[in-house]
Parts: sequence; structure tokens; C-alpha cells
Amino acid sequence: MNRTGEILTTSSDLVPTASTAGQVPWQSAMKRAIRSAARLRELLDLAPAPVTVAETDFPTFVPLEYLSRIRPGDPNDPLLRQVLPIAQEDESGGEGYSADPVGDLNSIVAKGLLHKYLGRALIVTTGACGVHCRYCFRRQFPYSESASGRTIDESAMQRLRSDRTIEEVILSGGDPLTLVDEKLFELIAEIESIEHVRRLRIHSRMPIVIPQRVTSSLVERLRGSRFAVWFVIHANHPAELDEDVLDRVGMLIDAGIPVLNQAVLLRGVNDDLETLSRLCTRLIDHRIQPYYLHQLDRVHGTGHFEVPIETGLKLVEQLRASLPGYAVPTYVVEESGQTSKTPLSQATDVRL
Ligand SMILES: *Cc1c(COP(=O)(O)O)cnc(C)c1O
Ligand code: SF4
Repeated sequence: MNRTGEILTTSSDLVPTASTAGQVPWQSAMKRAIRSAARLRELLDLAPAPVTVAETDFPTFVPLEYLSRIRPGDPNDPLLRQVLPIAQEDESGGEGYSADPVGDLNSIVAKGLLHKYLGRALIVTTGACGVHCRYCFRRQFPYSESASGRTIDESAMQRLRSDRTIEEVILSGGDPLTLVDEKLFELIAEIESIEHVRRLRIHSRMPIVIPQRVTSSLVERLRGSRFAVWFVIHANHPAELDEDVLDRVGMLIDAGIPVLNQAVLLRGVNDDLETLSRLCTRLIDHRIQPYYLHQLDRVHGTGHFEVPIETGLKLVEQLRASLPGYAVPTYVVEESGQTSKTPLSQATDVRL
């Protein structure tokens, strides 16, 4: 056996497995991501289907790292359902569904800056994501006009500097971890120069979809920040939390950065007690705190993902009856014009 002369090549036809995925730098993982539903179906041994209008508007984007956690041959796989464009999207969600259900467009105070809640301002760092989630409330957000580009816009900086009530800056998007370190670190340094900002929060699904994005240089930069840094990841199903993901998230937690998880309640993905319970348990077993469980935002094309609030309330009640208190996320809905996300409980009367 030749142990020295062998050159390992990667082929674009290679069907990824857990062992081949996750081995390339994160930028290469972005480049080699699957960009069509047809290719996704082919790789997963699923029957072909016509291209949908929704796919043209919001293209398929699935990294191989995520693909490797999807069961081939199962059109109902809960991870696949989150990323595969289907015909239902084209007619999904009628009355009550819109392009901006959460009123984000009214909260834009400067280019790429949303200031909706007291003390916290959110920077739309980029329109790019490491995966395209079919239920996403940002799928119709006009990024080209509001994304602050590679670094922060001057008008947004001015606003952050002049408003002393802002003590926390949230990096969001899109996904802020699709920015290369150079740009991301430059952005963090700019925000660090604003004295009254004390906390930095990073909202990212990258640790779930391309876990190798959590590099030691990123972790060291965040550890060295003058900010109290909080990290919010986004996993909806326990199968999204594979060993690679948990190792990388563990690097953040070991560096003293608290990691929270937000999930969206999605029909056919996590709308049953067993799945939610396994998700929450897997999170706390790895020191990640369940933060929010979001009711779906009513964006055009997402109606087939909606779970009735009554069902959500029952599920959360059942979680509370069986898990440690800190394992139970707060079930919330985002309502346009409110001063915070609205917690849902038996007593709330929104959309019931
Ligand atoms: C959700 C959100 C926040 C953060 O809200 P928290 O309840 O503090 O997590 C901040 N700004 C905007 C625009 C948001 O949508
Ligand atoms: S990663 Fe987040 S912002 Fe991007 S498509 Fe998914 S849910 Fe939306």
C-alpha cells in the first residue's frame, strides 16, 4: 500500500458523509454548498420535482456539513424540510401573511441599523447566510438597501455613538459569521470604540450549519473583547446538533462566552413533545441554554410551517412538566410595534 504517494482529491460528485463533511475551511464550505433543489434531491435519492417560483426568489443554499445530517430517501426529514424549496411555498400563507410581518422596516434608524427595543440596537451586517431556511422571516427583507455592507455604515456609527441609551449591540443579518474575520474584527473594534456600549451579542446559525466557522482565532478575538459577549445560535432539531457542532460551540463556552439557542416552532420539524424535549435536553447537556421558541413570523410562502399557538402552548407546558426549569425556552411571538417580543402563555390573547 502506498502511504505517501496518494493524493486525496475531492470530487463535486462526492456524496458527503459525516466523515467527509467538516474537513474544509469554512469559506470553502460556503463555496461548495448545494445551490439547487434539483441537486439536493439527486444527492438525497429523492424524486425530481419542477423548479418552484419560490426557489427563483430565494435560492437553495445548503452546506454539505448540514446535508450530511439529512437522511437520504426521506422527503419528510425534519432537517431537509427546513431547506428544500417545495411547491407549497408558492401558495403558502394567505391573509395575515406579508413581506414584513414583524415591522422591521419601521425600525430602521440608519443604514443597516435596527433600533426596536430599549437599550439594544441590531446591525444587519450582511444579507448572506450559511444556509437558506425556507421559513425565514428575512427571506423577503430588502437587504440590498439596508445591509451595511462589509463594515458598518457611517450613519449607523453616528447613531450608535450619539444614542447613549444603547448599551448592547447585536450583530445579526443575514448571518454576521459569513463575514471574513478581517471585516468582522474591524466591525467589532469600531463598536468597541463606543464607550457606552457594554455588551456585544452575536446571532448566528453558522455554528450549526458550518461549524468550522468557529475557529480558534474567532474565539480568541471574542475572549479578548472588552465587551461581555453573548452568543445566540439557532438550532430547531436535535439532529442539527452533531458532534462537530457541539465541539465548536464548546470552544465558545470554554472561553467564557455564554451560548443561548433560539428555535422556531415548525410544523413537521419540531412540533412534537419528543423532538422538542430531545432538543432542549441535548442543549443543556452541552451547557447551551434554550432561550426563545419563536412562533412563526407570517411571511409569504411560509404558511405550511405554521403551528397553531394552542399547540405551542401545550407543548411548552408539557416541557415544563418534564424538564429542569432552565431547559424550557420562552415561547414568544414578534408583533409589529411592540416594545419586546411577546411571551405567549395561556393568558395571552394574540392570534388565538
Ligand atoms: C429580537 C430582536 C432584538 C433582541 O431582543 P431580545 O428579546 O433582547 O432577544 C433586538 N432588536 C431587534 C430588531 C430584534 O428583532
Ligand atoms: S440563517 Fe437565519 S437569517 Fe439566514 S435564512 Fe436561516 S433563519 Fe434566516
